[in-house]
Amino acid sequence: MIEKIPSIANLVKELQHVPYLASKNLYRIVHYILTSDEKKIQQLSTALLEAKKNIELCSLCFAWKERSASCTLCFSQERDRTILCVVETWQELLSIEKTGGYKGLYHVLGGVLCPLEGIGPNELTIRSLIDRVDETCGEVILATNQTPEGEATAAYIANKLKNKAGKITCLARGIPVGSSLEFMDRLTVYKALSERRSV
Ligand SMILES: [Zn+2]
Repeated sequence: MIEKIPSIANLVKELQHVPYLASKNLYRIVHYILTSDEKKIQQLSTALLEAKKNIELCSLCFAWKERSASCTLCFSQERDRTILCVVETWQELLSIEKTGGYKGLYHVLGGVLCPLEGIGPNELTIRSLIDRVDETCGEVILATNQTPEGEATAAYIANKLKNKAGKITCLARGIPVGSSLEFMDRLTVYKALSERRSV
C-alpha cells in the first residue's frame, strides 16, 4: 500500500536506515513529520545537518565535541584531572554524567573487545588510553559493563595499566550482570560508581 505513495515510501525507506527506530514508531514519526509545520521540519533537518557538520570526536577522551571548541570535559577547570573513568560508549558516559556524582575525566573505548567479531585492541581506543595514563593519574575506574566481553576488556586494560596508574578500580556489583549502564537508573549507576572496588 505504502509503495503507491512514493514520497512516503521514500521517507520510510530513509527512516528504516536509522538503527533503534522500532518499526512500530516508524509510522508515528512519518505521521509527525507530515502533520508538523514546514518550519519545524526545516529546523529538524537543519539541526541534523549542522550536528553532522559541526560535531567531531575529542582526540583525547573520544566523546563528541563541537569542532570549533575545546572538549568541555577534558578542558574543564572544575574536573578532577587525577581520576579517569573508562566507559564503552558515549551514551554510558552520559549515564554517569547524569548521576552528577562524578567529576573526573573520561575515556570512551568505542566498544568492547570481541575477537569473534574481529574487534581487537586496535579497533578500540585502548592504545590512546594507555598513552594518556601517566603518573599524574591517581585512579582509573574501569566502568565497562558486567558482560563477558566487558569484563574481558576491563581485565585486558587493567593488565596494560597495572604499572602506570596509582589505583585501578571497577564498578560495584550493583548493576545486574549482563545489563548496560546506559539503561540503568541514575541511582543504580551512582551507587555502582561510589562503591567501586579495586581490580
Ligand atoms: Zn575530551
